[in-house]
Amino acid sequence: MQKEIILVKYGEIILKGLNRPIFERLLINNIRNALKNVAKADIEIAQATIYITPENISDTDIITDRLTKIFGIVSVTRAAVAKKDIEDIKAVALAYCSKALEGKSFKVEAKRSDKRFALNSPQICLEVGGYLHDNVKDLTVDVINPQVLVKVEVRDFGAYVYHTKIKGQGGLPIGSGGKASLLLSGGIDSPVAGYMMAKRGVELEAINFFSYPYTSERAKEKVIDLAKILSQYTSGMKLHIVPFTDIQLEIRDKCPEEHSTLLMRRFMMKISEKIARQNKSQALITGESLGQVASQTMPALHVTNSAVDMPVFRPLIGMDKDEIVVISRRIGTFETSILPYEDCCTVFTPKHPTTKPKLENILKSESLLEKNRLIDEAFAGVETITL
Ligand code: ATP
Ligand code: MG
Repeated sequence: MQKEIILVKYGEIILKGLNRPIFERLLINNIRNALKNVAKADIEIAQATIYITPENISDTDIITDRLTKIFGIVSVTRAAVAKKDIEDIKAVALAYCSKALEGKSFKVEAKRSDKRFALNSPQICLEVGGYLHDNVKDLTVDVINPQVLVKVEVRDFGAYVYHTKIKGQGGLPIGSGGKASLLLSGGIDSPVAGYMMAKRGVELEAINFFSYPYTSERAKEKVIDLAKILSQYTSGMKLHIVPFTDIQLEIRDKCPEEHSTLLMRRFMMKISEKIARQNKSQALITGESLGQVASQTMPALHVTNSAVDMPVFRPLIGMDKDEIVVISRRIGTFETSILPYEDCCTVFTPKHPTTKPKLENILKSESLLEKNRLIDEAFAGVETITL
């Protein structure tokens, strides 16, 4: 069987100047973590490339799949390993690429970063291209728009041949951007919001407000499933589930109905802030998008925001629903998000929510409640799941 290696390229990290080694170390650590329970592999870094050699060749598929979900990586390439000898490179190229090349148009590109290698890049292209052309059935040359691009790299470590590059997630390694707590509902938006912040290197914890028995165990399972999907990108995550029913019932019984959504939102923020501080998170993240619903107008967001003293990130604020859906499908949360189990907010939604709330009026309603007791009780009932 042909010996394969996985070449991992990273993007923005290269621009980090003197801090670059810190980011590289973090990325390598994250890769080790992601592969820990999956497969054994040797991991080395040189010349802005991470070389991953699976201990068992049969693990190459699963390792490749995991790597395409790690932030900070721009491409993942499976490559055949050849000796630094042009005859061996030609033979390996033929063995490794012939199936992909049959009946197609192609072009060879070469890169020689080991300048001690006798042939320069154009000479490597000519040699390998000519050999493939002579030995693969129905192969034509197209240097402008080839169906298959065969790449040869001659590096310090060895020579590599490949023809398919898989796009990575991009972004920055998790942990380089601090830690934040994501308010995760069962909807489409909040998982996408979490993904977008994690992409910028933010370590996540998730918080869900749960209104048993008004919302079912299935609704809770759905949120756990969403958190599991997200955790594939973050190499694990904690999910805190907060009992929210008592707060919702008190709001319903004691406050004007049109204020109820914003009062609930403020309680969610306050409790989340408390959980965040306890877990050393520096910020909150929500899936709000300007104007999407009554509680996401600018005055409503001001009311929600003023409940806490910590930065609140809303990465979807300027996005349309269809743009959010595209990301949700790509990251694999959409199918779970659209399962029809009710969310705690939908159960208690007022008929006529205010869209232009005044903070002072909302605070007046809030003062009708025993705020601290309600927050403390909910906080005491938090159930934490490690994914
Ligand atoms: P989503 O699709 O994320 O549910 P949404 O459009 O339904 O969002 P809202 O219900 O107004 O919007 O919620 C706004 C934000 O508040 C959500 O994106 C999420 O961050 C947070 N949120 C709402 N409900 C919950 C909940 N039950 N648990 C945790 N966070 C929630
Ligand atoms: Mg929702």
